[in-house]
This record gives sequence, structure tokens and C-alpha cells, in this order.
Amino acid sequence: MKMSSFPLELSEGDRPMIRFMHVHKNYGHFSVIEDLNFDVAEGETVSIIGPSGSGKTTVLRVLMTLETISGGVVYIDGKPLTHMARNGVFVPADERHLRQMRSSIGMCFQHFNLFPHMTALENCMEGPVQVLGLSKREARDRCEDLLSLVGMIDKKDQHPSRLSGGQQQRVAIARALAMRPRVMLLDEVTSALDPEVIGEVTNVIRKLVTEHKLTMLMVTHQMGFARDISDRVCFFYGGKIEEEGVPDVLFGNPRRERTKHFLSAVKEAV
Ligand code: ADP
Ligand code: MG
Repeated sequence: MKMSSFPLELSEGDRPMIRFMHVHKNYGHFSVIEDLNFDVAEGETVSIIGPSGSGKTTVLRVLMTLETISGGVVYIDGKPLTHMARNGVFVPADERHLRQMRSSIGMCFQHFNLFPHMTALENCMEGPVQVLGLSKREARDRCEDLLSLVGMIDKKDQHPSRLSGGQQQRVAIARALAMRPRVMLLDEVTSALDPEVIGEVTNVIRKLVTEHKLTMLMVTHQMGFARDISDRVCFFYGGKIEEEGVPDVLFGNPRRERTKHFLSAVKEAV
């Protein structure tokens, strides 16, 4: 598709929070995402499942502007993320545009990456103070509320090394929320955790979904959890959406052979 055929901005009546439009991503000759068309509506919770290497993390990294794409356009709330208009035509986004767009997006990874020399509270306050320019007082109020939300207010003055994996991950979620993102991306946030603390993290995510109107895109291996909290589940295979649907249909009555095969393989693994 020619760049000139992509709209510079999506029109009012057709403006999902996230839109991938004919997106391609190659590493050299290797195609990781192939002609991906994918929307997430405002307030929707979407889970991505699929085999290792199917491009799930790449989709999130593109949204976090950690990867450039090889073709197509990604839009956030109708505005181009990967591109910007210059004299009425699209050019690749520059650093300034990316920085501006990035502020709508929060992400948590499998490894929490908290700053080790800062307390839980300081970890959360860093972005609001340094990037958003909040006063320390405003940032502290906001972050204490969020640490309460994730059940970590009692540990706010602890350094990450004193916290369990589940506790660190909850702080990481609070830290991402402290930037007030419109879109939250979660990539296998429970995969590196000990089994007994997985529940405390999934409960926090469940609370976010039910009590807060965030748009959430989550990659997970926990099929029961995905089935429980998602509005829609997308099964990725080979950089494409092989099948998608509401959880009960995708898990209960998958149509594609690859989906059936994947779901029975993960069932056997647990
Ligand atoms: P998933 O999260 O579904 O396991 P990824 O999105 O991480 O998959 O990766 C998709 C494919 O892209 C994999 O085959 C992976 O090896 C490849 N890939 C990811 N990052 C790079 C990179 N920086 N260079 C080359 N290939 C990469
Ligand atoms: Mg991955």
C-alpha cells in the first residue's frame, strides 16, 4: 500500500485507541510482522496469545516506539504514532513526535526493571517529576494513591532488593500508571514470578480492568486469566492474527487448526 493512501489522521467515527494498519516489520530479510491490521477500542481489554516467536512482544515494542516498522502506519487515538505529517505527506516520526506520543502509553515487562537505588515510592515518582514536571508533592500524592491501589503502600520506602518478585511487579505497574497513560501494555508480567505470587499480580490487573477505564493490551501465557478478564483474545501465529474472538468462543470453540493445536498444547503443559 502506498504511503499516500494512509489517512493523516483517522476520522471521528472510526477512531480506535490503537490501530495497526497494514503494518510490516522485518529484521533484514526476516519478516516478523506481516500486513497486520489490528484495532483496540478505547476501554477495551485485549489479550494476545500465541507461540513463542509469533511476534507478540514486537507488537508491544512497536507501540512503545522501541522498534521502527518497515511498512504501514500505527495510530494512537486517531493520530499517527510511527509517522508524522509534513507538508501533507507522511514522513517517519522524529524523536520529538515519538516523545510526545509515548506519553499516552505505559508498559510493564516480564522483568520489572525498577531502579535498584530508589525506593518503591521514588521509583514511581521519577517519571511524573522528571518527565511530566509535577512538583514532588503532587507526584508523591499521586504515587501513594497508586501504591495503595496495588497494595504496596506499606512497602513504599523499601528498595526493590527487599521486595519479592510479585511486589516488585506491583510497584512496576504503579510506576507505569503514575504517568497516566491512556493505553497500558503488559508483556508476560507474571512469567518470571514464583507461582505463589502470580495471584497478587493478576488480582491487581483484574482490579485495573474492572475499576478503571484503561485501554489494555496484554500478552500472556495464562489462558485462564486471559479468558477471565479480556473483552477479546487474539491468537498470533507467524506475525499475523490467526484467529480472534470473545474469550468463550476462542477458547471454547476455536475454528482454526493452529488455534486448536496451540490451546491443547498449553493445556497439556499445565
Ligand atoms: P514473541 O513475543 O511472540 O515470542 P517476538 O515478537 O519477541 O515474539 O519475536 C518475533 C520474532 O522476531 C522471533 O522470531 C524473534 O527471534 C525475532 N526477533 C525479535 N527481535 C529481533 C531482533 N532484534 N533481531 C532479529 N530478530 C528478532
Ligand atoms: Mg515475547
